[in-house]
Amino acid sequence: MRTVISNTLCLRGGQASAPERLTMVFEKGQIAALLPADAVVPDQADERIDGRRLLAVPGFVNAHTHSPYNLVRGSAPMLPLELWSLHASAGSERRTAREVEVSALLGAVEMLRTGTTTVLDHIRIAPDIEGDLLDATAEAYRHAGMRAVIAPVVADKPLLETLPLDSADFGGEEVAGYAARPTLPARRQVEIVEAFAARWRDDPLVSVGIGPSGPQRCTPELLVMAEDFARRHETIAHMHVLETRAQAEMGRRLHPGGMLAYLDDLGVLSSRSNLVHANWLAKGDVERIAQRDAAVIHNPVSNVRLASGRCPLPRLLRSGIRVGLGTDGACCNDSGNMLETLKWAAILHNDEAEDPARWIQPGTALRLACEGGADAIGLGKVAGRLDAGMAADVCLLDLDTTAFVPLSDPVRQLVLSETGGAVRHVFVDGRAVLRDGRCTSVDEPSLFAEAQELSDRRRRDNQDVYAAASRLDGPIRRMRRRLLSSCEIAA
Ligand SMILES: [Zn+2]
Repeated sequence: MRTVISNTLCLRGGQASAPERLTMVFEKGQIAALLPADAVVPDQADERIDGRRLLAVPGFVNAHTHSPYNLVRGSAPMLPLELWSLHASAGSERRTAREVEVSALLGAVEMLRTGTTTVLDHIRIAPDIEGDLLDATAEAYRHAGMRAVIAPVVADKPLLETLPLDSADFGGEEVAGYAARPTLPARRQVEIVEAFAARWRDDPLVSVGIGPSGPQRCTPELLVMAEDFARRHETIAHMHVLETRAQAEMGRRLHPGGMLAYLDDLGVLSSRSNLVHANWLAKGDVERIAQRDAAVIHNPVSNVRLASGRCPLPRLLRSGIRVGLGTDGACCNDSGNMLETLKWAAILHNDEAEDPARWIQPGTALRLACEGGADAIGLGKVAGRLDAGMAADVCLLDLDTTAFVPLSDPVRQLVLSETGGAVRHVFVDGRAVLRDGRCTSVDEPSLFAEAQELSDRRRRDNQDVYAAASRLDGPIRRMRRRLLSSCEIAA
C-alpha cells in the first residue's frame, strides 16, 4: 500500500520545530519519504490526498489511560481520588470479555477521532487479572487499528492496607469484606502477564508492558518482579506514583525518604519506570528521577478534576527528565481527547514562574504529546515524529476550520484553539483508520448501542459492589480531614 499526501503543511516534531510544506509518501506502514512540496512522485500510488489545506502532525501518544472506565463514563461524582475511586472502580468489576473489548473500542474511537494514534492502556481487570480479558483488550486495539502498549495492572495488597488509615478513622464502622479482599499471589499475576506478552509478541500494533498500580498497593516482591519483567521484555513498568497527599503519606510510612527513595532502595527505579502523576515529590526526588532516567507521565486534567495536586512540570523539564502526557481515564478527566490535555499542559503551570520566558510553550506541549510520550512508553524509535523510517502514524487536520482561520501560528492554534473538530484523516501504520472524519474500522452506531446496553446491565448487576465500596466512604473522609489538618506532609 502506497499513499501520497502532497504539498501539506507539516509539524514534524523532534528537532524540526518550524512548519514545513512537504509531500509525504507512506509505504509498508512507514513514512518512506518526506519530499519537497512540489516534488513529482511518478510511481503509482494506491491513494493520493491533496494536502494543500491540511496540517500534518505526528499522531498523539496518550501515555496514560485506563480503558475499563470508558464503559462507566459519567458515573463518578466530583470527588477527590480516594473517594472517587469507590464509585469508579465498583462499576468496572466482574467484566465479561465482550464488556472489556467494547470498553476499549469506545476509547479507541474517541482517541482516533481526536488525532491520537498510540495509547498506553493501564488496564485493571478486577477483582482478579485474567488472561482472556487482557486478550479481549488487545483484540479491540487490533480491530480499531490503533497502536497500543497494554500495561496490565498488578497489585497484591488489600485496599485497606493501601491507604494511610488510622484506627480512629473507622469510628467503629465495619468495613471488612470488599476493603480487605485478598488478591491473587504476586507470582501468579506476573505469570498471567508473561503469558499475555507471549501471545502478542509478534503483533505489529500491540505490545505489552506491566503496570504496578502504585508502590503502596504492591508488596516489595511484586515491585521487584515487575521491574524484572520490564527488563527481560525490554518494556516499561508503568505505575501511579505520588498522585495525592494520602499517597505521599503512605510513602513516608514506607520509607523515611518517601516513596521514590523507597523505590530506589528496592532497585526498581530505572529508565524503564513510568512514574504516572509525580505530584507530591519529596526533597531530592527530581534529582533522583533524573539520575535514574525514569520518565514521568503528566495528566493535568485528571489532576485538577480530582484535586490531586500538581506535577512540577517546568522543573522536571529543566532537569532534563523525560515526560509524556496522558488523559487518564474516562471517569476522572472525563475525556480521552489529547488536544484538551495538550492545552492544559501548556497553560496550567503559568502561575509557577513570574518570568513568562520560563512558561511551558505550546511547542513544548506538542513535543511531549508526541515524541515525549512515545519515548516514555518505549516506542521512541517507532512513533512520535514525522521522519523517514518512522511509522506512518499521522494526523491530518483541516485548515479550513475555525481553529485555524486566520492562520497565524499553526503550533499555537493547534495546541490552544483546536479541540478535535478539525481532525480529518488519521493514519496508523500507513492505514487510514479515520477518513474524512469517519472511522473506517469500527461500526460506531452499533458499538454505541451495545455499549449502552452493557453499561446499564453492569451497573445494575454490580450494586452489591457499589454498596460494599461505599462502606469506606466515612473512614476515608475522616482520614482526609486528619491529613489535611496535620502538618505531617511537607507540601
Ligand atoms: Zn491513572
